[in-house]
Amino acid sequence: MSCRLLSADLGTTSLKVMILNGGGQVEGSVSEPVHTYTDGGNHEQKPPEWWQTFRKACRTLQSNGIDLNVDGVVCTGQMEDFIPFKDGRAETAILYSDTRGSRELTKRHLPPDVVTAFTGNDWRATTPLMKWMADEFPEQWDQVLFGSKDYLIYRLTGASVCDPVNGTVTGMMNIHTRAWEEKLWEGSGIFRRQLPRLLEPEETAGYVLKEAASQTGIPAGTPVYCGLGDGGAVTLAASAHAGNDEGYAYAGTTGWTAVPADTLTVSEEGSVFHLAAPQQGRFIKIMPLLNMGNVHQWAVHTWCGGDFEAFEKLIAEPASVSGSLLFIPYLNGERNPVIDEKAKGAFIGIDGQVTQAHMARAVLEGLAFSLKQTFFQAGVTSSTLFLVGGGTKSRAFRQTVADVFQCRVQVSAEQELLASFGAAACGFRAIHKCSWEEAARAVQSVDEEEIIVAPDVSKKEKLERKERLFIEAAGRMRGLFNT
Ligand code: ADP
Repeated sequence: MSCRLLSADLGTTSLKVMILNGGGQVEGSVSEPVHTYTDGGNHEQKPPEWWQTFRKACRTLQSNGIDLNVDGVVCTGQMEDFIPFKDGRAETAILYSDTRGSRELTKRHLPPDVVTAFTGNDWRATTPLMKWMADEFPEQWDQVLFGSKDYLIYRLTGASVCDPVNGTVTGMMNIHTRAWEEKLWEGSGIFRRQLPRLLEPEETAGYVLKEAASQTGIPAGTPVYCGLGDGGAVTLAASAHAGNDEGYAYAGTTGWTAVPADTLTVSEEGSVFHLAAPQQGRFIKIMPLLNMGNVHQWAVHTWCGGDFEAFEKLIAEPASVSGSLLFIPYLNGERNPVIDEKAKGAFIGIDGQVTQAHMARAVLEGLAFSLKQTFFQAGVTSSTLFLVGGGTKSRAFRQTVADVFQCRVQVSAEQELLASFGAAACGFRAIHKCSWEEAARAVQSVDEEEIIVAPDVSKKEKLERKERLFIEAAGRMRGLFNT
C-alpha cells in the first residue's frame, strides 16, 4: 500500500482513529469513549462532543509521535441517525436506536409495498424520515445529516454528504438509483435542499479547512473521502477475510448475518434488511437478531456478577448429565426467524441435575443456534465462518459457535478496528483507482493475526439433536406472550 490514511470509526460507544501506513501497518490507533444521553425511548448524542473527541484523538496520536500529514482522511460510523442543523450548528444527534418516529409511522403516508419498492426496506419507528416528519415544523432546519461520520466530514471540510449505504436506512433513498427519491416525502414539509449530497464512498467530499487543521493537526487541504456507514465498512473488511461472496456473522450487543447479494429478495420468513453495497449495483442482505451479546452479558451478570472471565471458568466446569437443557434467548423480543417483539426467553428441559454451569452453556448454545438459523435463511454454506463483534472475545462463545455450526470459526485479532479497515479501503480505492476487492485486501493490516477455532466433531450428533428441538421450541414462542 503506497499511501498513508487516517481512518476514523465513530461508533455508539467509542471513537477509534487509526493511521494506516504504506506497508499495510497500523502506525497507531486511539480509542476514546463516546457518551449517550438516554431518556426512555429517546437516545441522543451531542455532535459537538463528537468533534471534541475527534480532536482529542488526533492530538493523542500526535503526542505519541505520529505524523498526521496523510494522503487522505476517511471515516465510518453509526448509521440511521437524524442530525438537524440550524445556523450552521447541530446540537443533537437523534440516534438510530431512538424510537421517536413511531407516532409518524402509525400515520404513514405511503403503503409498505411502495416504500419497499423504492428503498428495499419498509420504514420503521427508527427511520430518520419518520423522526424528521415527527417534528412539528420539519422545514425549520437549514439542513440535516444522517450519520456520525458525516458530521466529522462537515466539521473537517464544510461539506454536507451522505453515502449510499447509510442512504438506504434514511427511508428517503432509492436503493436502485442510489439517489434521493422525492416521492417518499412529498407533501411533508421537507425540502430537497435540506438534504446532504449523496456521494459514492470513494468520492472526495472536500478538503480539510484551515480552522479544522488548526484544531486537529491534520494539514489544511488534505482530501477527505465520503467513506461509508459502519454496516458497509464491516462488510467490506469482512469480505476481504471471508471471501467476496461469503457471509459473515456479527456478535456484538445485538447480532446479524450479512451476505453480499446481486439482487434484492423479499423473504417470507423472518425479517431481512437490505443495504446498498459499496459496489454500485450490489446489495448487502442482513438478517438481524435482537438477542446476542446483550443476552451473554445478562448471563454473565446473573451468575458471575459481570465478570466475563469467571463465566468462562463456569462454562469450563466438567459436564455431567443434563446435557439436554435448552435455552431460547428471546429476552428482548426477536426478529429472526421468529418475528415477535413480545417474545421472551425460556429454559426448557430442566431436571434435578441442572447446575449453573449447564445453564451458562445452554445460554451460549442458544445464541449459536439462533445465529445458525439466520445463516440458513441467508442460504450460506461456507466451510469457514468469519465471526466479528465483541462476543468473539469469549473463548467459550467462539468454541460453541464452531461446535454448533460444525465448521471452522475465523476471528480477526484486530476485529475492533474492522470498520476502520473497511473505511480505509474507500480511501485506498480513491487514491489508486483499483477495484473494491483489491482495495479491501490492500488495507488489511500485515500484522493482523487470526484466531482459527476448529469444531469438536464428537459433539456433532448431540448438538444436531438439540438444534432440532431448539427450532421447534423457538417457533412455539411466537405469540405466546401476546395476550
Ligand atoms: P456493539 O454492537 O455495541 O459495538 P461490541 O461489538 O462491543 O458491541 O460487543 C459487545 C459484546 O461483547 C457484549 O455484549 C459481550 O457479549 C461481549 N464482550 C464484551 N467484553 C467481553 C469480554 N471481556 N469477554 C467476553 N465477551 C465480551
